[in-house]
Amino acid sequence: MKSIAIDGPAGAGKSTLAKALAKKLGYLYVDTGAIYRCVGLYAIEHGIAPRDIPAVEACLPKVEISLTYDESGSQRMQLCGADVTERIRTPEVSMAASAVSAIPAVRAFLLDMQRDMARRYDVIMDGRDIGTVVLPHADVKIFLTASPEARAKRRFIELQAKGDPASYEEVLRDMIKRDKDDSTRAAAPLKAAEDAVLLDTTPYSLDESIALLQKIVEEKMV
Ligand code: C5P
Repeated sequence: MKSIAIDGPAGAGKSTLAKALAKKLGYLYVDTGAIYRCVGLYAIEHGIAPRDIPAVEACLPKVEISLTYDESGSQRMQLCGADVTERIRTPEVSMAASAVSAIPAVRAFLLDMQRDMARRYDVIMDGRDIGTVVLPHADVKIFLTASPEARAKRRFIELQAKGDPASYEEVLRDMIKRDKDDSTRAAAPLKAAEDAVLLDTTPYSLDESIALLQKIVEEKMV
């Protein structure tokens, strides 16, 4: 099985680019952030503070997460039997996901699920630690980034389209905090793998970024 790891901070365009590339290559796209978001949502819905390590650890045996694909090939997330695909996309869940993801027991709990996908399918997997921890032997590793302002603007437009009331300033502030927490945590921090190719998409359009990404993958795969 072939695997492509894409890591990078929030809003770098990982999911949009990875999805487009997966379609071109016929690979399965796996958004691992969605899995952490399910744990974050579970904590919120059960009145558990996402930073309360013992309480989050204690709830893990009850957290049932499954990942499926609909007819159009889009990833859907189920949490304890309910479809939560849309519910995990709020700013509140983003912050909760970042908080629970710093807990080593949470990361260990979700590791097998991610590796299992890569054992069974050709995958493009995106996240924060795919090239460093989840798939250290991935065929291609890419670290995708863009300026905080460019990333916040993209995320703000996405949220606005969904009718979310968050302001640009709030989105930028949350994003900077989340990146800082994700990069400085002890467990599997956000960082580029030593053998990752860095791609800063700030100056590029979506189509240009897809073309650049495809070129990197084609060069590495031969
Ligand atoms: O990618 P997304 O923004 O949906 O991820 C939500 C949060 O989940 C991130 O801020 C990060 O803390 C965590 N995460 C992680 N490792 C991954 C994917 C996501 O820690 N592989």
